[in-house]
Amino acid sequence: MTRADCLFCRIANRDLEANVVGETESLLAFRDMNPQAPTHILIIPKEHIPTLTDLTESHTALMGGALHFINRLAGQYQLSKGGYRVVINCGPQAGQSVFHLHFHLLGGRQLSWPPG
Ligand code: AMP
Repeated sequence: MTRADCLFCRIANRDLEANVVGETESLLAFRDMNPQAPTHILIIPKEHIPTLTDLTESHTALMGGALHFINRLAGQYQLSKGGYRVVINCGPQAGQSVFHLHFHLLGGRQLSWPPG
């Protein structure tokens, strides 16, 4: 299910342009428009899931598939050796600004910890 009023659903449906770097039957990867690292890719399920809190057991295969997809993208973008970070912001206090579940894949520079 996708939602016409959701920015990332519109990207998943190709109603809105994005710099797409990969795709599976259920997932889409595209470059973040405001990159926080030399490589900053967003990975979204094509299905509309607002936040991590909304996941159910029925999403288990989808989420496992997302991690494999991210692993593959990290290899493709030469991040595997040096290291990279995968982030999900969940809810307002974590800074989630687009309420369609997404993973941030960040790499290509030394990343600091803890995050702000
Ligand atoms: P979050 O704050 O975790 O919800 O992350 C949302 C991310 O989506 C931010 O890093 C934004 O820069 C990015 N973003 C918002 N709109 C677009 C868009 N149209 N295309 C690509 N990235 C976007």
